Amino acid sequence: MPNTELLAAAGAQVDNGVLVDERCRTSLPDVFARADVTTTCTRSRSRLRVEHWNNGYQQGRAAARSLVGGRSPTTTIHTFW
Ligand SMILES: Cc1cc2nc3c(=O)[nH]c(=O)nc-3n(C[C@H](O)[C@H](O)[C@H](O)COP(=O)(O)OP(=O)(O)OC[C@H]3O[C@@H](n4cnc5c(N)ncnc54)[C@H](O)[C@@H]3O)c2cc1C
Repeated sequence: MPNTELLAAAGAQVDNGVLVDERCRTSLPDVFARADVTTTCTRSRSRLRVEHWNNGYQQGRAAARSLVGGRSPTTTIHTFW
């Protein structure tokens, strides 16, 4: 179960996970999220919450890039094992 209560109470948009874009930005300014607690918009524009290690790793990289001002989105294709 994604533990989103704190972010929801702070006003973040939540839909089965805290909503993030391809740069791991939540709807709150300067708040980023990654991995299992997030729901992301996929390439097909549907929303998906992924519970796989590789997604958390790639989103962590994307969040780190965003934190230092980068604008490149996560472009990796989701894989798991
Ligand atoms: C049994 C099992 C098998 C899995 N097998 C696979 C697999 O084969 N392949 C695969 O890709 N994925 C697998 N997964 C999924 C993978 O483990 C998760 O997708 C990944 O670990 C999620 O990373 P995360 O950082 O979101 O969460 P986590 O790895 O769960 O890390 C969250 C951390 O936050 C800490 N935490 C929680 N609440 C608080 C708090 N209030 N304050 C401070 N710290 C807190 C927790 O203690 C934890 O250390 C498996 C999961 C399980 C449970």
